[in-house]
Amino acid sequence: MSRFGQFSLLWVDMAERLGLDVDVCDVEWGKGVPVDDYAAKLRADKSHQIKAVFATQNETATGVTSDIAAIRRALDDANHPAMLFVDGVSSIASIEFEMEAWGVDLAVSGSQKGFMLPAGLGILGVSDKALAAHANARMPRCYFSFADMIKLNDTGYFPYTPATQLLRGLRCSLDLLLDAGMDSVWARHKRLAEGVRAAVAAWDGCELVARGPEWQSDTVSAIYAPPGIDARDVISTAYYKYQTSLGSGLNKLAGRAFRIGHLGSLNPVMLCSAISAAEMSLRDAGAMIVPGSGVAAAQEHFRVTTPDMMQHTASKAA
Ligand SMILES: *Cc1c(COP(=O)(O)O)cnc(C)c1O
Repeated sequence: MSRFGQFSLLWVDMAERLGLDVDVCDVEWGKGVPVDDYAAKLRADKSHQIKAVFATQNETATGVTSDIAAIRRALDDANHPAMLFVDGVSSIASIEFEMEAWGVDLAVSGSQKGFMLPAGLGILGVSDKALAAHANARMPRCYFSFADMIKLNDTGYFPYTPATQLLRGLRCSLDLLLDAGMDSVWARHKRLAEGVRAAVAAWDGCELVARGPEWQSDTVSAIYAPPGIDARDVISTAYYKYQTSLGSGLNKLAGRAFRIGHLGSLNPVMLCSAISAAEMSLRDAGAMIVPGSGVAAAQEHFRVTTPDMMQHTASKAA
């Protein structure tokens, strides 16, 4: 496992509390899964002591996305049979995720991020390999026993009362996503994220927490406030004065960073209002940024990159 933000950190904590023997790679916050370190450990593990490799695809605390396909290549290059477990809570349904192509064995998500629903559903994708491993696994489990689940699912039931209203909601979300097409959903998230990044680049003294373009997330941006500015002031001003809820800086980013979420049912105009609120709050908190600079940069990006649905519809009809 690797730890580079509040969510990847919590996974390590859970695995350790469950009594698993965890080999943790600690990484600077702002970077993601250290694939080269994983590859070296897998190559060195000739007796296959490593049972699973874990990755948080999108670290929501720092706005960092990791390369899951590269982890699959590291496993394959080392000819290692370990399973690949992925936290896709803030990535699946928003940015590229290919369970089969990347050979992911367990992928977990939730209803409350890219699936655009209230919190309440945990969604777990399971490969055939993981299902087979489940048959002889010795760790105790009950709540999410695949065997119990499959047995009752086959008859149209769950082993406990399911959140039926959320399952109905999920059906609607999936229809929205699949009707748009996942390529189009991923492209929209990229456009939205690039607009936010254009705004951040225009704000003097602000900087993304992500340490380079290869790590930048298309679903959430964590942004360092300019030196000397308390990000908590920015967040509370946005909330109490402009009725806009920015994400807080989690754990060691508290006071240093704020976050703008940009996933799910969102369009450029909605995102411009969040960028505008962040900009006004930054100035209220004392940041010397030029009024309108971030909004203007985002607007220009959106103006140039947003597909024109009128033309789109017309050309389809033709
Ligand atoms: C939101 C999120 C979770 C789940 O968080 P809960 O608050 O425990 O539901 C897990 N991992 C990531 C990367 C997330 O963004």
